[in-house]
Formats: sequence, C-alpha cells, structure tokens
Amino acid sequence: MLTFESVTYRHAGGVRPAIDDVSLELGEGEVVGLVGGNGSGKSTLCLIAAGLAPRIVGGTLSGRILIDGEDIAPMPMHELVARVAIGFDDPWTQLSGVTGTVYEEVAFGPANLGMPRDELVSRVDAALSSLAIEQLAARDPAHLSGGQQQLVAIAGLLAMGPRHIVLDEPTAQLDPSGTSLVANAIERLASEGASVLVVEHKTDLIARVAKRLVVLAGGTIVMEGAAAELLADPRLRDLGVREPSAVRLRRRLVEAGLDPVALA
Ligand code: ADP
Ligand code: MG
Repeated sequence: MLTFESVTYRHAGGVRPAIDDVSLELGEGEVVGLVGGNGSGKSTLCLIAAGLAPRIVGGTLSGRILIDGEDIAPMPMHELVARVAIGFDDPWTQLSGVTGTVYEEVAFGPANLGMPRDELVSRVDAALSSLAIEQLAARDPAHLSGGQQQLVAIAGLLAMGPRHIVLDEPTAQLDPSGTSLVANAIERLASEGASVLVVEHKTDLIARVAKRLVVLAGGTIVMEGAAAELLADPRLRDLGVREPSAVRLRRRLVEAGLDPVALA
C-alpha cells in the first residue's frame, strides 16, 4: 500500500506548490492511472511517490508518504529503492551506462542490493521473460532501439521485485507492440500484488490496465474514480487529457447522428 497524506510540495525556487494537498491511496495489486495536462504535476507526484523528491531533487514537502504504513522520510535509501521502483519516459537516462549486455543491465540493480546469486539469476530470467526480451540478453544496451531500451529498463525494475511501482509515461517512446508488452508487464505485476501508479498520455493503455483514475490539474486532484467511467467524461478533454480511441469513436458516431448502440 502506498499512501499520500495531505502532501504539498514546492520545487526549489518554485513560486507555487507543484503538488497541493494531495491525499491518495494505492492498494495491493491496484493499478491507478494518473492523467492531467502538461505541467499539472504528474511527474512531480511520481518523484514524490518514489521518495526522490525532496530527498534527491530538493524542494520542500509537507504531509507524509507511507509505504505499507511506514513513513518513507526516515527510510534509508537502499531500503526505499528496493520497496518502490520508478521508471521514466526516457530509457536512456535509466540505463546504468556501465554494463555490456542486457543481462548484466537487468541484474545491475538487484546485484547492488547484494542479492544471492541463485535468486539474482531467477529474478533476471523472470524479468526478461515477462517482457518477452530473452532474445536480447546478450546484446549491448547502447545498441538497442529506444523501445527495446525501455523494455530493458522496466525489466531492471521488475528484477528488483518492488511491491510499489511508479511509471512516468513508460510507453512514450514505444510503438504499439512495445506498448502492449508494457501493458502485459503492468498487469502481471499487479496480479502478483504490486501497486502500480502509471502516468500515460496513451489513455488506451490506461483504459486497459487501470481500474481507478486520478486526474490532476494545477497540482490538485480534480477528479478521481472508476477509470472506465472517467475516461468517457467529456470534461477530461478540457483538462488536456486525450480520449481513449473507443470513447473518441463513440463521440464521432454520435456527432455524425449515428447510434453507437445500434451499430454495436
Ligand atoms: P507534468 O509531469 O504533469 O507535465 P510536472 O510535474 O513536470 O508536470 O510539473 C508540475 C509543475 O512544477 C509545473 O508548473 C512545472 O513548471 C513545475 N516544475 C517541474 N519541475 C520543476 C523544477 N525542477 N523546478 C521548478 N519547477 C518545476
Ligand atoms: Mg511529466
């Protein structure tokens, strides 16, 4: 369980809070989609959830973030990174830059935690197979496509075995087949009990993996509820959120004077 209790956060030098009095709870095995226009605070919320803000990036925070009921503020960094993983849109920034093969890259995080070798091998194998990238194991991460690199970066997160995962636009650089692999990985993680917070502009992906949706505007939660219902809410477009293709199709049919129910 990942809990935000009245969290307000201001970036160093920020004139107003980027996150303003946010309370939120993610249960075990729950995937929550986070959407909102540019600058609404999505990335900042991800950094806070992973304990990187304010600890690493600075700024000031009030309120509390709890992992399974424990305040993360005093938690040692090595413990924090094993309990909550964060993935970003740009895979290149996430790769270590020091490994020569995908296998070593995926093993890098857990190896740094001092994991026993047998467990390390089984974790890496499982992570590679859950993203269907076993065939990349011997390749140099630097010579992969952006989409392949993102899958490797996510495999590296999976290998850490975190119970809480934060993904900030993980499929921004992926084609539809890569996006679908990431969706599979999210579903698998959730089925194993992880709580996942996923920011995506691709609302089709959100519609597929998330039961619950949180909408941010100006650093505040302005809408929250069942993803299937909220994604069809016309107010989302005014908040800078793309409609899922099914919702767009339905709207276009209605605008054209056709009855989507009769056509279905
Ligand atoms: P999103 O991911 O939804 O586009 P961000 O979390 O990146 O939004 O930004 C939220 C707000 O915080 C914006 O007003 C942005 O300008 C501000 N912000 C983001 N990063 C910084 C920073 N490093 N320093 C100061 N302000 C920042
Ligand atoms: Mg962002």
